[in-house]
Amino acid sequence: MIFYKTNEEIELMRQSNMLVSRTLAHVGELLKVGVSPKNIDKSAEQFIRDHGGIPGFKGYRGFPSTLCMSTNDRVVHGIPDDRPYQDGDIVSVDCGVILNEFYGDAAYTFSFKGVAKETMTLLKITKESLQKGIDNAIVGNRIGDISNAIQQYCEKEHGFGIVRELVGHGVGRSLHEEPEVPNFGLRGRGVMLKEGMVLAIEPMVNLGNKAVKQLKDGWTIVTRDSKPSAHFEHSVAIKSEGPDILSNHEIIEDSIKKNEDLVIISNIF
Ligand code: MG
Ligand code: MG
Repeated sequence: MIFYKTNEEIELMRQSNMLVSRTLAHVGELLKVGVSPKNIDKSAEQFIRDHGGIPGFKGYRGFPSTLCMSTNDRVVHGIPDDRPYQDGDIVSVDCGVILNEFYGDAAYTFSFKGVAKETMTLLKITKESLQKGIDNAIVGNRIGDISNAIQQYCEKEHGFGIVRELVGHGVGRSLHEEPEVPNFGLRGRGVMLKEGMVLAIEPMVNLGNKAVKQLKDGWTIVTRDSKPSAHFEHSVAIKSEGPDILSNHEIIEDSIKKNEDLVIISNIF
């Protein structure tokens, strides 16, 4: 069943998603060569709790940490470990919180210095595809219009591989609500978009082939060809006046600009 949110509930969800975004901006300050994902995860948990939130992923179906940190060929659901970051890494950081009984959910893929140009192109195109999906998140459209816009841009126009096994989703009092929001599909198909829906739209796009597998830890998803993968996510409310993005990537990019070890995507091109 789809839960439609009132404007008041959407404002509460904006607060949840802004805490997610501020946490990701905090991560953008901490991502340094030599620092481990585990250390950053600890700091992110403290940051969320200091701001009155509860980590949304920790304990969710047994997930062990606050952040999903997925480096290079890891697509999503990476468990923060002790391997220190190095130049040439990209890392998708996915964060969820609970605040005011509502989940926030957003993700950003960070880039260290020295990342191959084709990988930077992957990041740029994946981020742009998220916006193309959002542009189609309008009342009267269908889920397939969002899905198709993302697939068309990444696969048809740029030759990247869209992950099939994992999809976006409704979000609200539960982390994963109906409907599913695939990053592939046909225009005009699927559930009709109506005012009050809140969708987590999250293209997961591979540099090479679309095929993925799960590691033995039961969580981490990696590309089968070991090539890099990118992931960007916003939580978006469907409103009569158009899509309302509840999370915020700009504040994350503000902290990237101040971090000498990271490269901002737009500066590469
Ligand atoms: Mg997420
Ligand atoms: Mg999500």
